Amino acid sequence: MEKIITRHFGQENSHRLENYLKDKGYEAARKALTQMTPAQIIEEIKKSYLRGLGGAGFATGMKWGFIPKNNPKPKYLVVNGDEGEPGTFKDKYIFEQDPHALLEGIIITCYAIGSHKAYVYIRGEYLKSIQILQGAIDEAYKNEFLGKGIMGTSCDCDVVIHPGAGAYICGEETALLESLEGKKGFPRLKPPFPAVVGLFGCPTVINNVETLACVAPIILNGSEWFFKLGYANQGGNRIFCVSGHVNKPGIYELPAGITLREIIYEHAGGIPHGRKLKAVIPGGISAPVLTADEIDVKMDFDSLKSIGSMAGSGGIIVMDDTTDMVWAAMIAARFFAHESCGQCSPCREGSGWVYNNLKRIYHEIGRPHDLANLPGIVSNIGGNTICAFGDAVTMSVGSYVSKFRSEFENKIKERVCQI
Ligand code: SF4
Repeated sequence: MEKIITRHFGQENSHRLENYLKDKGYEAARKALTQMTPAQIIEEIKKSYLRGLGGAGFATGMKWGFIPKNNPKPKYLVVNGDEGEPGTFKDKYIFEQDPHALLEGIIITCYAIGSHKAYVYIRGEYLKSIQILQGAIDEAYKNEFLGKGIMGTSCDCDVVIHPGAGAYICGEETALLESLEGKKGFPRLKPPFPAVVGLFGCPTVINNVETLACVAPIILNGSEWFFKLGYANQGGNRIFCVSGHVNKPGIYELPAGITLREIIYEHAGGIPHGRKLKAVIPGGISAPVLTADEIDVKMDFDSLKSIGSMAGSGGIIVMDDTTDMVWAAMIAARFFAHESCGQCSPCREGSGWVYNNLKRIYHEIGRPHDLANLPGIVSNIGGNTICAFGDAVTMSVGSYVSKFRSEFENKIKERVCQI
């Protein structure tokens, strides 16, 4: 199986420029800057069917194409490395194992969208990632891969790291922009979209780390090569982060068309102690949970959407048959209640009500109406908020209650019996 994003992982000093250069490092950037126009690069990325691998799955080339050509303001590239979605730990590895692959993607993207400055927003807890990426940036400046007149061309590109401060919502792209501007990380109303009014009011593209790590290989090997590795409307591979009840948790770079069953049983070694699979979160905690009967789904964005879940960030959390699903739902709800930014009443109040109801049910002090009210509360959050966080609360918590309802009912019965 051909590796793209993780091809250098595990090699000694894979983060150093000298090693990156040994494997065609910065050749894609040289090709892009000297042989291709920005329009040709955007077209190539469109044809590759590279999707946004941070979670939204939006077509990357199309996103770049939204940057207005005639706007005289500066354009910015913002790299989303906030990686706060529970169950997700892939960007960290890219920062630490192959930072030059990210920088090369940044250079090509900046050239394609007419930007001379990129901000890399990194989760603040990733201190090692910040240090390693800064070292790679310094190496790139010293060797004229960044700065003025990159590789003897007329292209300029500066890269600045900005550490986050621990708020999950700053992974939402407009909240991230607010945070970068020095304000509270509150998501913005859209429209206007960041492509038109983004960072400092200027046209801005926001891409995830993994998405940008795919850019140089596409330019070097061609869009058709990348497209053929993927499945349906999603080109290439992606990194799946597998955690929970599996024998071999970790990160796995696999084609988008692989099934969830293959990931769990062939790559992650199956469930420990011969236990049975009960449930899986397929794309970070915001993704609706799947039952053991649903794991033959392919892991591309469209296939998971067709069964009512999400490929999201690629964070797969596996739960065996010892898992209390009321507890799992309560933990998810606690996270949402804690991380709601509080701007919208349905999300701010509703996420707390959901958590309180689930807490009562889990601790066997729940009343029948605690369960009966849950679907109404969650359905009044989604679609009534500024950002997609509200939809995540609705879809995630709602999926536990609808798919494992008998477990919730049993907890209520246990409470009634104690009276
Ligand atoms: Fe904040 Fe929630 Fe509203 Fe998003 S949906 S803006 S997280 S209150």
